Amino acid sequence: MDVLLTPATKRIKTDNFDIKAVLSDEFKKEITLIKAYSCRLERQQLEHSLKELATKLPHFQHLKRVHDSNVLICPTKDIQHTLEQHLQQHNITEEVLQTLCKNVKEVEVPASWPRLRVQYEEMLPYWPVKFHPNKYMESLHNGTNFSSAERQFHRRMAQLLRSLSSDLNKDGNMGICVDPRGSSIVAIAGSQPEALPHEHCVMWLVDHVARSQGGGAWESTQTFSSEPTELGVPQSYKDYIQQQQDFQDLRIGAELPRNCQSLQELEQEQSAANNLSKYGPYLCTGYDVYLLREPCLMCAMALVHSRVRRIFFLDCCKNGALISCFKLHTIKELNHHYEVFHIILT
Ligand SMILES: [Zn+2]
Repeated sequence: MDVLLTPATKRIKTDNFDIKAVLSDEFKKEITLIKAYSCRLERQQLEHSLKELATKLPHFQHLKRVHDSNVLICPTKDIQHTLEQHLQQHNITEEVLQTLCKNVKEVEVPASWPRLRVQYEEMLPYWPVKFHPNKYMESLHNGTNFSSAERQFHRRMAQLLRSLSSDLNKDGNMGICVDPRGSSIVAIAGSQPEALPHEHCVMWLVDHVARSQGGGAWESTQTFSSEPTELGVPQSYKDYIQQQQDFQDLRIGAELPRNCQSLQELEQEQSAANNLSKYGPYLCTGYDVYLLREPCLMCAMALVHSRVRRIFFLDCCKNGALISCFKLHTIKELNHHYEVFHIILT
């Protein structure tokens, strides 16, 4: 039940709302098993055999090597001819080889580390696994990572995206960039009807964030707020927010760059500045981005380059790069990773 009943939340209260972290496939509940050779050893044989296996066949780092006197030898897929030959190729001494090749059986064991408790519990019946619980990842998986006030804010941003889209942007895509430190709106952008093919809503949003810092490269037909902290917010969107009972208490404004405390100072900074060298490509560092639609690959990459902290999106798209076609943010090789959340608001 909602406890934060301000006028702005009354309408939203009736919405069906959920928010789910989009995690990499390592965190899915289903586990993968592989086949392995195992054999039963007498207690006096264990220590010696284990020592050799650990150095010469160092598999199964995520598993306990011994379970009820059964020792894991190697994955069955590694064997080209016979297990005996395989052990010889790995210089296992004759004595240990003879011991290991007695009473061999095939077993199924988990293929990788458990990342979540639910995976760990599912793996246990197969073979004992090592597990290092990560509280934060558990909370992302369970959906308990946000406080109720945070959830409420995310819900309001989702509602604002929908309202701006339907009331001002002909149901086109919308994006909002927020500085989560003060829950303050830094920039807003909508898809533009006459845009060039690459001028997607997200690209406009990144440009509007740059404007808020005295930069911005694209020529917009929109009029922007002239308040020094609101340069990334088109005037029509600002007026709309201030006129709507549901949204008028939302905070708008970015922190001024460096030490500028007035528009005059900011203008001086701008005229003197080479913004690229001042801000580099890191202009959304620490910011959250709320999008009506799942971004395409180009836009998702632009958000990587601008170092966004978290992305929240509502509607999946068939060419979407965060859940539908790929999970771009789970690619380890990228030099920046944002978190992604899918908001369900119906
Ligand atoms: Zn795009």
